[in-house]
Amino acid sequence: MLRLTVLGPDSQIGSSLCAQCPHSPAGCCVAPPPLTLTDLARIVKHGGRDWLVDELAAKRLVRAERGLGIARKKARISDARGAPRLTKCVFHGPSGCTIHETRRSVTCNMYICESALTENKTESELARTAREAHARIMSEQVRIGERLLSEMSAAFPEGPVFDAAFFDWLVFAYERALITEPVPPLSPS
Ligand code: SF4
Ligand code: SF4
Repeated sequence: MLRLTVLGPDSQIGSSLCAQCPHSPAGCCVAPPPLTLTDLARIVKHGGRDWLVDELAAKRLVRAERGLGIARKKARISDARGAPRLTKCVFHGPSGCTIHETRRSVTCNMYICESALTENKTESELARTAREAHARIMSEQVRIGERLLSEMSAAFPEGPVFDAAFFDWLVFAYERALITEPVPPLSPS
């Protein structure tokens, strides 16, 4: 069964299939996506600035080319005695993701594979809506991300330090980008 909540960058798509993922015992969480600048700004906006600083200090988050990466670790796939161990996202526990959705990337909240989208043919209308919402929201994430990268290069020519002051700057830049629509092409007069 598919679930879709459309709330801009806080949107979520989920599927009941993920609990019994046919591809991996830890589902998509074997390969956590990076936290882009857009993701980081959204997390800070939801009150997660100090959480980010703490997770960096604990090395569960690490610097990456265009934001932060999430560390992986080898852990049991469930609480069952003798359950096999698997290398997966450091935030993945025996019952799935252990962090709140406002601390996850938009990709974590919105990615859904073809098997999950097409699990139940009677939901094809919802699947189509989910696909469209995913494409629209990810395209906006890319637009804002490119703008944040460009502003960051100008404001921090030596590269970001990912401390509290940087995250405060980032959320201001994000708010500005959110209210700035792409310039439409000029129409002939
Ligand atoms: S989206 Fe697909 S690959 Fe990812 S956990 Fe769900 S069923 Fe598995
Ligand atoms: S942050 Fe959560 S949803 Fe994203 S990969 Fe890690 S465990 Fe999975």
